[in-house]
Amino acid sequence: MTAPDSTMAQISRRMLSAKAEQFTESVIREMTRLAMKHGAVNLSQGFPDFAAPEEIKEAARKAIADDINQYAITWGAKPLRDAVVEKFERTQGVKYDPEREITICCGSTEAMMSAMMAIINPGDEIVVFEPFYENYGPDAILSGATPRFVKLRTPDWSFDEKELTAAFGPHTKAIILNTPNNPTGKVFTRTELEFIRDLCVRWNAYCVTDEIYEHILYDGAEHISMACIEGMRDRTIVINGLSKTYSVTGWRVGWVLAPPGPTQPIRKVHDFLTVGAAAPLQQAGASALHFPRSYYDKLAATYAGKRERLLKILTSAGFTVFKPRGAYYIMTGISRFDLAHLARSGSETDDVAFAKYLVEKVGVAVVPGSSFYNDASDGASQVRFTFCKKEETLAAAEERLAKLHA
Ligand code: GLN
Repeated sequence: MTAPDSTMAQISRRMLSAKAEQFTESVIREMTRLAMKHGAVNLSQGFPDFAAPEEIKEAARKAIADDINQYAITWGAKPLRDAVVEKFERTQGVKYDPEREITICCGSTEAMMSAMMAIINPGDEIVVFEPFYENYGPDAILSGATPRFVKLRTPDWSFDEKELTAAFGPHTKAIILNTPNNPTGKVFTRTELEFIRDLCVRWNAYCVTDEIYEHILYDGAEHISMACIEGMRDRTIVINGLSKTYSVTGWRVGWVLAPPGPTQPIRKVHDFLTVGAAAPLQQAGASALHFPRSYYDKLAATYAGKRERLLKILTSAGFTVFKPRGAYYIMTGISRFDLAHLARSGSETDDVAFAKYLVEKVGVAVVPGSSFYNDASDGASQVRFTFCKKEETLAAAEERLAKLHA
């Protein structure tokens, strides 16, 4: 005999994780699936649609041919650990021990999750700037941290020092920083970092800093890692990876730099989650980290051109644009559009209805602003575009978005 529907529902709810029930599937990844379904130009998920550098692809082919095909050491292949440490010292001037202070993970996504699971206890709070990269929400839920949100405010995405100060307290375990920032393009200044440092020291908190866009900077903006702010070396957990700097988002190679204390549990969490990142790709990554300075200059210059291009397209299509100083996204305001006629289901906010309209009717995929806020209504008048795309892709978006304005 089969159980009645209500019993089935009850049983299945009890059989599933209450934690996993608290968050939805990634809206960013979902928008890519919708773009494919509707044949839309994909300016939603931040992955390059152009070729990765020839040298890094060749290095990966060679690593496989050389039979680097079995497990690497769980916390990372020695050549990559050495290369990450060498590059961090070269660019940020801070030394790490490749034997005790680094963990190579499956992308910075796993790096962040492993770091959070390694430091959070029940009752711990984390401070998160908002808007925030959507992964930090589920990171908090799965690790058991309670987030305290602090607003970054348009047009320059500055924060209120009093609001930040009030978010820290005796339960604060860490602040999550992302600089250059996704989705806002904010690059935190030394003065801001020092203000955050003082709060971390006062409340004995870590700074977990996601620096994946470190080389994508505009208008003379400088990336400063929290690890090199005086007094922060030993309370900072740096997250980074190959994805954005070397245009290989599908390789899933990232890392955590942290003092030996947190590195020990981070390595254990990482080991039992994934054992390790792809061995031949770690090998190839090690060679990429030795690219000369000119590689990074060219990367930033290329993205600067794409930023100008998309800013122009969006401005003439009627969006309010917030010019990024780093990373490869543009947050926009949509309040100049007449949204009254959009079809909505349930309690859908403006940004979601507008993004649906854009992908289905206009043929351009974006990320609704609400994906970057705890309270969906805070992002209801924003959508995010990415410009890490080929000229043809941007040109196709231009053509389609022009129709929107008409
Ligand atoms: N960081 C990229 C974004 O924000 C892609 C993230 C992902 O889908 N893993 O779009």
